[in-house]
Amino acid sequence: MGLKRVGFIGLGIMGRPMAINLLKAGYPLTVWNRTRSKMEELIALGAYGANSPKEVAERSDVVITMVTDSPDVEEVILGPDGVIHGARPGLIVIDMSTISPAVTRRIASELAKKGVKMLDAPVSGGEKGAKEATLSIMVGGPRDAFEECLPIFEALGKKIVYMGPSGSGQTAKLCNQVICALNIQAVCEGLMLGAKAGLDLKKLLEAVSAGAASSWMLVNLGPKMIERDFKPGFKIRHQQKDLRLALELAAELKMPLPGTALVHQLLRIVEAEGLGEEGTQAAIIAMEKISGTKIVGEREGC
Ligand code: NAP
Repeated sequence: MGLKRVGFIGLGIMGRPMAINLLKAGYPLTVWNRTRSKMEELIALGAYGANSPKEVAERSDVVITMVTDSPDVEEVILGPDGVIHGARPGLIVIDMSTISPAVTRRIASELAKKGVKMLDAPVSGGEKGAKEATLSIMVGGPRDAFEECLPIFEALGKKIVYMGPSGSGQTAKLCNQVICALNIQAVCEGLMLGAKAGLDLKKLLEAVSAGAASSWMLVNLGPKMIERDFKPGFKIRHQQKDLRLALELAAELKMPLPGTALVHQLLRIVEAEGLGEEGTQAAIIAMEKISGTKIVGEREGC
């Protein structure tokens, strides 16, 4: 049997390199993006550019969505021109965006009425992991659909873990985001303390990156913080969405998440500065504001 025909909806920071990796792995690919210009590169590489999510479904065995938030996934799957209207029994929908577990279960039950199975398969590893096909992928939904789609996941990531029924991939991702967000705050506080005390921050990074304080955030975002390179790999605005989703889940479960709530508020300072589209390393701005200290040099235009 040949490779499945894959459809890809949402060619943003993550979706674009993931779609390219599917093409490289040989999958016949149909793409759609709301802003059509972002489809051109993929079409030049051999993908078919569809006119709607509905048309993507009509041309595919498996449809992947990689958009922003719960309402966006609802729109591209259940909306007027959505995937559900081009779906036939046997189609599998994989949502790889980070959204609400409860909304995921609702979308899955709507699709099930049409004989369509849905997997929630959010990812971790950032733009770098998407480009290098080394993402960590956490999957919820029917186990048989997971097994059927495993080769597709293997073209996109390195660590693929089946978490359980619908919504459990998203729940795992929200736990991941809690850990990431507090980790970024830890990096900010350590670096700001060093800055205030007059240390050479490059030397500080060199020393602590090799010890017990090392982490993905320290190694990847620490240098960007001290270079004031705020170009987004993962946007502050999306981090805030994920922390909101984690806090909503925690509220449903009557679970206190004091550190997460604090970081969510600190990032509001960055958003209030108009920097929501910057990368999560811009979290350092909140620490600068409340400490009255610049990490290094002066930020232009502020
Ligand atoms: P992004 O660069 O902002 O891209 C978002 C994509 O979603 C764009 O293609 C956008 O289309 C599309 N979109 C948003 N709302 C839509 C709607 N209502 N209808 C149709 N298309 C819509 O975001 P990203 O960084 O790739 O993130 C995508 C998802 O992956 C998010 O859920 C994010 O939380 C998650 N994620 C991101 C990272 C990361 O490091 N960046 C890591 C793990 C997970 P337009 O081009 O028209 O705007």
